[in-house]
Amino acid sequence: MNRVFTSARVCYPNMNDSCWFLDPDLMHVLSVTRNYGLLLYVWEGWHNAVGIPLKPLFQEFTALSNEAFKRDGFADTGDYWRSWYESPTLVEDLENLFHQIEPLYLNLHAYVRRKLHQRYGDRYINLRGPIPAHLLGDMWAQSWDNIYNMVVPFPDKPTLDVTETMVKQGWNATHMFRVAEEFFTSLGLLPMPPEFWAESMLENPNDGREMVCHASAWDFYNRKDFRIKQCTRVAMEQLSTVHHEMGHIQYYLQYKDQPVSLRQGANPGFHEAIGDVLALSVSTPVHLHKIGLLDQVRYGGVEAPASPTAPTAGLR
Ligand SMILES: [Zn+2]
Repeated sequence: MNRVFTSARVCYPNMNDSCWFLDPDLMHVLSVTRNYGLLLYVWEGWHNAVGIPLKPLFQEFTALSNEAFKRDGFADTGDYWRSWYESPTLVEDLENLFHQIEPLYLNLHAYVRRKLHQRYGDRYINLRGPIPAHLLGDMWAQSWDNIYNMVVPFPDKPTLDVTETMVKQGWNATHMFRVAEEFFTSLGLLPMPPEFWAESMLENPNDGREMVCHASAWDFYNRKDFRIKQCTRVAMEQLSTVHHEMGHIQYYLQYKDQPVSLRQGANPGFHEAIGDVLALSVSTPVHLHKIGLLDQVRYGGVEAPASPTAPTAGLR
């Protein structure tokens, strides 16, 4: 199933030697193209290339997995997954959280739909219907960052998207990980060990190996070897991912001296949240200014000049 997912390609019509993989080719097309037909072509092409061969395997996998967990006393695989959270009210808690966010989500959805309508028109966007998934800049319609330039509410205000600045200043993958590490250590948390820097794969080696580019963090369970694998691109959204992955390593480091059976997160959600909590602070104007990515920070409408003692950006 993994192989189907990572080796799926979308080819130009009738051209089997001109094909795109999901990462980075198709992801790039979805993030920059605004051509409805092309977006639909790659979205549909990838879902067909992955979904059709995966479907029977997935059905079999689901049946086997459910069977296995029933033998362990759970109702099915989902029941087992939910057991990690040790909360009898997990489902209701999530339902409540969803309802708290729902009004904001509906407003945001309608706003983005209106902006897309301005671009694609009546033919493609029904102002009372759902948004076509291939127009949101992401293969899973999950993160909408890539269409920010189409929906930005006040285009004349200074942008908080620092991707261009990172490129201009010559940031690279290692520098992005050093900046993240510095943020963790500034909070009194642990630096990455030497093995991390020696053995991680922070960029796509582009040497012909078939890479699963989905970023991941690994604990080798010997108390010193911890690695990240990420096809890092110089972009603001990737800087968040760097913090996210480093959050996993930080948690591994914090529990590395526990017995092996206790070297795991309180639950998977907690593991996922550590780096993201930090990434929230990293994307604030004040912090972006501190790390040299924003010239000026606006405080309540008054523009504060860049402090002369602010560190100038450069490779660390
Ligand atoms: Zn994660």
